[in-house]
Amino acid sequence: MVKNLALGLILGGALGFIGQRTRFLTWSGALALTLMSALVFAANGWTWGAPLLLVVASENIWARYRASRKEPLGDRFRQGARRGWPALFARIGWASVLALLYALAAPTKGIHIAFIGALATAAADSWATELGVLSAQPPRSLLTWRRVKAGHEGAISVLGLVAALGASWLTGFAGLLCQAIASWLQRSLVERAFLWLPLAALLGGTAGCLLDSFLGATAQGIYYCEHCNERSESRLHSCGREAEQIRGWAWLTNDGINFVSSVVGAAVAVGAVAWLAQTSLRW
Ligand SMILES: [Zn+2]
Repeated sequence: MVKNLALGLILGGALGFIGQRTRFLTWSGALALTLMSALVFAANGWTWGAPLLLVVASENIWARYRASRKEPLGDRFRQGARRGWPALFARIGWASVLALLYALAAPTKGIHIAFIGALATAAADSWATELGVLSAQPPRSLLTWRRVKAGHEGAISVLGLVAALGASWLTGFAGLLCQAIASWLQRSLVERAFLWLPLAALLGGTAGCLLDSFLGATAQGIYYCEHCNERSESRLHSCGREAEQIRGWAWLTNDGINFVSSVVGAAVAVGAVAWLAQTSLRW
């Protein structure tokens, strides 16, 4: 427990520091990452901590990828749009809560699978956003299926969808790999339910990511800055001026949507494994 806590603090702190230096996180985001990493490692060890940090590291890498090309495409790609603690909590907070729940109350495989599903949603959304926006084809609105500008909230593209599928499958695969290594070290076999992890994460992460796009296209509070002639995801535009609300619920921010999506992604992953395990027994 103390060894795991130290490992989580050191690895999470190192990744937070790198994130801050590469302008991916604010100091508060780096601190939140360190604390959540420490919590997850301390609660359940490296088999839970490693997938968490891998997901955040991959988000950091894709956020930096062609950053200057993405910058004009909207507020969330601007240099100032580093992730602070609310943005970080919105993405990996539910996964951290599940890790704590597993350690303190319910050490079941279902919670473990939900944890990976929540992480898969965060990875899918990040990869889809950061890569999808670079698509040569303009994306379509999930709602009207009309072509919209790249970076438009709730827009989806083929490239973004492929990125979401890849990210969520890889998250599940990372979870399975950690379980397999841990079992091998203990000279035991991997539990059968974990073999479904890549597929469950694929389904959960993609469902969460699509819900994210759907809510972004419908319910999210969206603003318009007349001065810059640009849409904005927050009342305060990046130019420092106040933007006017044009649709959605003001209280439903991008962070709120990310949190809701990770809860749903986790539930879909568990449901998928329950259904698959039951179906496969009948074969
Ligand atoms: Zn502006």
